[in-house]
Amino acid sequence: MPAVRIFDTVEGAYSTLEAAGEQSLYVCGITPYDATHMGHAASYVAFDLLNRAWRDGGQRVAYVQNVTDIDDPLLERATATGVDWRELAASQIELFQTDMAALNVLAPDHYVGAVESIPEIVPAIERLLQLGLAYRVAGTAGEPDGDVYYDVEAASKQSTDAGAWTLGSVSGLSETEMLELFAERGGDPGRGGKRQALDPLLWRVARDGEPSWPGGELGEGRPGWHIECTVIAQKYLPAPFTLQGGGSDLVFPHHEMGAGHAYSLSGVPLARHFAHAGMVGLDGEKMSKSKGNLVLVSKLRADGEDPAAIRLAILAHHYRSDWSWTDAGFAEAKARLEDWRSALAMAPEGSAAALVAEMRTELADDLNAPGALAAVDRWAAEARKQAVAASAMDEALVSDAVNSLLGVEL
Ligand code: ZN
Repeated sequence: MPAVRIFDTVEGAYSTLEAAGEQSLYVCGITPYDATHMGHAASYVAFDLLNRAWRDGGQRVAYVQNVTDIDDPLLERATATGVDWRELAASQIELFQTDMAALNVLAPDHYVGAVESIPEIVPAIERLLQLGLAYRVAGTAGEPDGDVYYDVEAASKQSTDAGAWTLGSVSGLSETEMLELFAERGGDPGRGGKRQALDPLLWRVARDGEPSWPGGELGEGRPGWHIECTVIAQKYLPAPFTLQGGGSDLVFPHHEMGAGHAYSLSGVPLARHFAHAGMVGLDGEKMSKSKGNLVLVSKLRADGEDPAAIRLAILAHHYRSDWSWTDAGFAEAKARLEDWRSALAMAPEGSAAALVAEMRTELADDLNAPGALAAVDRWAAEARKQAVAASAMDEALVSDAVNSLLGVEL
């Protein structure tokens, strides 16, 4: 496997990753209140390609993922459905992990929950308060005293060193764009008492009817989302680690603020590179819970669909592009899987090595899965055409390569 080059969101350009040594990967996990939809699946499959490429190149990979097992949407769903939030989270985490295993996504080395990380998150927030980079907000109408927010303006002024975080370092967005996305994606720009509309929540003090945990000097409460990922990444991975990944909807505020928290706490960047996967729609429409048009991996599996075909349908799109799940696209993936499987038995002698090299070249080029799929398509067409004596060794090599590089079991 050649050195992988990947499109780095921060640079707005391709970066070539080191081809030797240990790599470290953090991919933001789910909030477990709905089973894995196609957007999640595509994002984890994308970074699974990177994990596989590194491993194929003989590199060791430390892979960490969080699970936001306490957050507003989880509690809202639990209340709406009359299920205990812990049971909802546990059942959805199990379903997610089963979906990922079925899709042949290599499991992270550490899969870490927000709740279990609270004992580490609390001192991190206390430290931000001591540094003057966080502050407590007085209670406003209906809200108690003491929620803690990150001061983005103060944090942006910490240092002028290269690599220092300032607001916009990761996303490159204007303040107007940030404000719009902040409100859309769980931020609370209108919360009274904040120094700046974009300041994100670090600690939400206990409310009646909401679960809470001991918070030391912060008082009982629960953590915000960005600090959760920062503290988990800092605990399990080197600083900076190689790459933080997620869907493109995580660029702002989540990855922006997480990078800020990390720099404030450690004086070094959180990650060397940031990469983001496109959004997946359904038949040209944005997939969303409110529209009720989620395509769920578990539902497809329950309908008896082959997970390898689901994965192949995802891989037909470059991970950075926005695309739509369609019946036609899925039918194409099923036909392609059938084509590859039947061509295997006709593997021409000596044909595997060139195919493996071609797949590696494509994947090293910003995880170009569609290019790798096209290479296998050409190989399969050639195998049929040649109709020479089949080679069991080439059959085994092609099958292994497709499984290990693309994660598709033939
Ligand atoms: Zn995260």
